[in-house]
Amino acid sequence: MKKNNEKRPPIVTVLGHVDHGKTTLLDVLRKTNVASREAGGITQKIGASQITTKAGKKITFIDTPGHEIFSGMRKRGVKLADIAILVVAADDGVAPQTREAIKVINEAKIPFIVALTKIDLPTASTESTVGQLEKEGIFFEGRGGQTPKVELSAKSGQGIDSLLELIILLSEVSEIGASPDSALEAVVVETNKGKGGPLVNAVVRNGKIAFGDVVLSDGVSGKVKALTNDKGESIKEALPGDPVQILGFENLPGVGSLIIHSNKVVKSDEKTTTRTSIVVEKGQLAFIIKTENAGAMEAILASMPKDVVVVTSGIGDVSEGDVFTAKASGARVFTFESKIPSGVAKLAETEGVEVKAFRIVYEMFKEIEELVALGKENVLGRAEVVASFPFNNKKVAGSKISSGKIMKSTSLRLMRGEKELGMVKVISLRKGKDEVLEAKEGEECGILFVPQLDFEVGDVLLSIAK
Ligand code: GDP
Repeated sequence: MKKNNEKRPPIVTVLGHVDHGKTTLLDVLRKTNVASREAGGITQKIGASQITTKAGKKITFIDTPGHEIFSGMRKRGVKLADIAILVVAADDGVAPQTREAIKVINEAKIPFIVALTKIDLPTASTESTVGQLEKEGIFFEGRGGQTPKVELSAKSGQGIDSLLELIILLSEVSEIGASPDSALEAVVVETNKGKGGPLVNAVVRNGKIAFGDVVLSDGVSGKVKALTNDKGESIKEALPGDPVQILGFENLPGVGSLIIHSNKVVKSDEKTTTRTSIVVEKGQLAFIIKTENAGAMEAILASMPKDVVVVTSGIGDVSEGDVFTAKASGARVFTFESKIPSGVAKLAETEGVEVKAFRIVYEMFKEIEELVALGKENVLGRAEVVASFPFNNKKVAGSKISSGKIMKSTSLRLMRGEKELGMVKVISLRKGKDEVLEAKEGEECGILFVPQLDFEVGDVLLSIAK
């Protein structure tokens, strides 16, 4: 039996800041026109597609959206991509999600290529963008490092062939091996409820999936009734590197789950609605989230602000049950691409339940964040960062307490102006050389926190009552 000694197409993921050109680049690579079809121009669904280069080499692209709300999908431990492309617009440079993407790539320990996009714009400066990336710890070939980079324009097509060549080159040195005869290893990239039953989009990393196979993923099994490739064609089997849509699962496995072969189909209960036993406290913001597909749901749930409660979440149309649950728990119903049947909308109106439909995920988050900001927050302490100094390879925030007090071991919100940079936990608090338990209004202290979010002088740390 042959074992992993055949080459398979590399599986490539594109990451980067929103609007830096990921969708357009993938679009040019695929020669289709996805960007113009999308609401708001943001990729909202994860799929995968395969291309063949002029030299006859195949490459599989995962259409990973770069918006930060999708980071939940990337967090799953299952490995999917062999190579990452970090897209950075040369007219904008390093942006917050560029840093997030660098973190994701480093954690995944996969080789990557930096694609400097939009070089056709007069405002583009590859020199300054490269300089900014070097500050983030990325060192380029020819400049003392090893990371390959390509300057390109998705508009004019300049640099696209070089990018494809670089991908092939990297995949060859990375020795990506697989064999159709090996054990099946496929990863779910998106799921939908189709007319004929649950549809599972996956990419095969190793082995093969064939018509009639019994497969298992995330506790959900099924017998393969139909396989479709990324061009919408019906196929008999999917081989290593292939993107494939599988019909036959009894239910929807989670995005990022591994698909393997199984020896029998296990009947599972409907598990499209996750009921939680969370108790909504007075004054707490509560939501019922409905989406049309599991990928979006997973991403949305992963990015919900910590201080809000998701009472239930489910795939599919908004139901009367959702309205009653919302009424009982004081929750709002927010939907992404799910339908609201007119009877349900009427019921919501008479019951006084807010049901709101969104077509763009970040608009949903904007609204949630506004609601969070509106909710009365009880600030226990506020510290202004007045200096930054190094300590054991870390950075300590030299801070002045402008109101209340800051205590050791508590969580703080790091703010830059109106913008929240994230939550951190105080692991060390010092006044002068002394480790202390708290620092009060007017006092100066050194705060060491985790994670090491990149703070600046002028940022503010807030301690907020739960
Ligand atoms: P994404 O959010 O990273 O997927 O970014 P998009 O692909 O949606 O691109 C954001 C905007 O930048 C769109 O208006 C694109 O037309 C534009 N864009 C993308 N690539 C290029 C490029 O190479 N040159 C120019 N001039 N504009 C680009």
